[in-house]
Amino acid sequence: MTTIFAKIIRGEIPSDMVYQDELVTAFRDISPMAPTHILIVPNKVIPTVNDLTEDDELTVGRMFTVAKKLAEQEGIAEDGYRLIVNCNKHGHQEVFHLHMHLLGGRPLGRMLSKPN
Ligand code: AMP
Repeated sequence: MTTIFAKIIRGEIPSDMVYQDELVTAFRDISPMAPTHILIVPNKVIPTVNDLTEDDELTVGRMFTVAKKLAEQEGIAEDGYRLIVNCNKHGHQEVFHLHMHLLGGRPLGRMLSKPN
């Protein structure tokens, strides 16, 4: 299975990559919603959170520790930031390759707007 993020990870399409190791890759979102908006993605295609297994626990843990390091590098750790993982239709997931959004660099407001 391939995805647009898998192509970025393999270097087949351009990206502003900020980190890569044997488990995860991080690159800047093409349509940033905040001064810092980085996507942290497993190198292996896992479509959604629903597809995770216990075998993926190291990878998921790495996504968090990389988020922490990148937040420090971006200078947003002290003021704070938000980590988001969307899942399927109600979560408004658009790319079916698991990814964590790291957002910061401005006050982000409340977590969600209330329904009307
Ligand atoms: P989600 O709605 O959680 O699936 O988020 C998908 C994110 O991927 C969006 O914020 C898009 O702007 C971002 N995105 C889509 N294509 C690319 C790309 N080629 N490079 C970087 N970010 C992308």
